[in-house]
Amino acid sequence: LHQRALEQERLSSLGLMAASVAHEINNPMSYVTSNVDSLLQDMRDVPDLPGPLKEYVDDVLPATLDGIKQVNAIVSDLRRFSRGDFEGYVSYDFTAEVRTALRIARSQLGHVRVEEALAEVGRVTGRPRQLVQVLVNLLVNAGQATPSGGVVHLGTRREGNQVRVEVRDTGSGMSEETKRHLFEPFFTTKPPGLGTGLGLSVVHGIIKAHGGRIEVESELGKGTCFTLYLPNVPPLPAEKTSGANLLAAGR
Ligand code: ADP
Ligand code: MG
Repeated sequence: LHQRALEQERLSSLGLMAASVAHEINNPMSYVTSNVDSLLQDMRDVPDLPGPLKEYVDDVLPATLDGIKQVNAIVSDLRRFSRGDFEGYVSYDFTAEVRTALRIARSQLGHVRVEEALAEVGRVTGRPRQLVQVLVNLLVNAGQATPSGGVVHLGTRREGNQVRVEVRDTGSGMSEETKRHLFEPFFTTKPPGLGTGLGLSVVHGIIKAHGGRIEVESELGKGTCFTLYLPNVPPLPAEKTSGANLLAAGR
């Protein structure tokens, strides 16, 4: 238990540091971004640029902007991540937060059919904003991996004193190599601007801190299923009380 408390403390001071680094980088990055962007716009308007400068307009500056966008994406992922670290444990309505995550991820899921199977879970103790972050990451990944017309399925239910969450897609699936590195920070198979490789390492950290676990099944060309288990979920109030429920459960 002591070990656990130390680990928590280490994680939260890392979170604080990440938050302040991200904050400090954010300010200079915003003027670097807008300066390079307007330089590029202005140079595009100049007729008959000499060769070397034309290369800047065609290749060098667009590549620089891509790099800058990648840094910005990493910084905003870090900020989002570390913000969650300051949240305490509370008792919250699980399904309400699942719906929040679906709302946030919706813009990345326009091209697929989203199937929801949300059984009643009741109240859960944990960090709701982190739960939302976990689900948004899994849903966005599923959306990005799945071609138009595919399916992204989100299922939640109780299993004993755990909550089981399933995010399943009919997308690209993953190679063995990808499966091996999946949860490592900055591991991504996506082009700059689309992926930072931070999503699943954040998911992993949050689920671990909640005492839960993650299972991954994936088949190339068929799809992927992430299953989360969150422990220590108290029974629904109705389950404590009585007969009617026991009857229903025995059906
Ligand atoms: P990012 O999405 O920024 O690349 P993540 O940590 O969220 O970073 O994911 C890491 C990698 O895991 C992705 O680049 C992708 O290769 C793989 N991955 C994650 N989710 C899926 C999925 N649902 N289907 C296929 N590959 C996935
Ligand atoms: Mg991701």
